Amino acid sequence: MTKNKIWLSSPHMGENEQKYIKEAFDHNWVAPLGPNVNGLEADLEGFLGEEKKIAAVSTGTAALHLALILLGVKAGDEVICQSLTFSASANPIVYQGATPVFVDSEPDTWNICPGALEDAIKERTALGMKPKAVIAVHLYGMPYKVEEIHAVAGKYDIPVIEDAAEALGSHYKGQNCGTFAPMAILSFNGNKIITTSGGGALVCPDEDLKKKAVFLATQARDQAPHYQHSHIGYNYRMSNICAGIGRGQMEVLEERVAQRRGMHAFYTEIFSGVKEITLLRAPGTDYFCNHWLTAILTESFEQREALRLALDEDNIESRPVWKPMHLQPVFKDVPYYGGRVAEDIFDRGLCLPSGSNLTDTDRERIRSAITKFLSI
Ligand SMILES: *Cc1c(COP(=O)(O)O)cnc(C)c1O
Repeated sequence: MTKNKIWLSSPHMGENEQKYIKEAFDHNWVAPLGPNVNGLEADLEGFLGEEKKIAAVSTGTAALHLALILLGVKAGDEVICQSLTFSASANPIVYQGATPVFVDSEPDTWNICPGALEDAIKERTALGMKPKAVIAVHLYGMPYKVEEIHAVAGKYDIPVIEDAAEALGSHYKGQNCGTFAPMAILSFNGNKIITTSGGGALVCPDEDLKKKAVFLATQARDQAPHYQHSHIGYNYRMSNICAGIGRGQMEVLEERVAQRRGMHAFYTEIFSGVKEITLLRAPGTDYFCNHWLTAILTESFEQREALRLALDEDNIESRPVWKPMHLQPVFKDVPYYGGRVAEDIFDRGLCLPSGSNLTDTDRERIRSAITKFLSI
């Protein structure tokens, strides 16, 4: 008998998602606008605070593309991006005809390293290619070194874009991730801490920029009775049906954060006596991580693979940490600054099942698979 699959991170619905979808059907708001889109934006604005304005869009990737456009990133420009991340952090740079410049991580948060960032900025600027923006990621929900990164970027007057796709509900010194930079992005893909099946949001500093984002996201239509266009537009707005799911999910966000953090505590306990395995954990009390995924560092690439395969044997999904962008075939000719921190995390890092919907039975299966593996 095959055991049911334990997933890394699967959608976890609350109570009211279907109620909001039904309202959309009842009023025929089956379109990429409507009360759920406005409602989700208001919910997110209320949650994030700091007077941010939200534009709900079709994906986190689309949100990042819009952020780059709004910052004026054009063909031939360079944009710095954290190397240790999902490809969606870097791809929109290429959509603009610009070139990414990848930067290594530091070992405390696994996020972009302030020293390597400064080296990159100095050298690119000396080469006559001052970077147009820096994309910093809160990987697996762990806040990046906010003060250091913003100080370096600020010193050279380069705007930061916060990729908070994995970090809704995380905060640093009590301030929410997604509110530190002028613009940030969120993702509601199916595997994220809350989902709209597919969706994302651009966090804007004011109503004016939000208006510009929505204009671009709805085909850049000029004010006229006919269809007239002075700009190239995009079809990036969020569906009112998807936004209905999002409104239901916002009602359980805090609960989901607590449950994901509970999974991290569960693994902390399992690995507490195991010297060779460490967890990605908050480097201090200033950091509050939603622990979207719990990630561990094993002793070696071999141990990481052995653990992954042992879990797979029991139908438990785990996944190597994101493969750094500077090691991706598609980015092989792109400049890179830093050492081997990201590469080493990739070699030895593994993400473990972290879903908020895992049951006690699932946890017991995970625990026995890991303890069995460790006692070999
Ligand atoms: C998921 C993710 C994105 C992209 O979001 P989509 O909604 O899937 O387009 C961007 N950056 C990071 C770090 C992500 O994990």
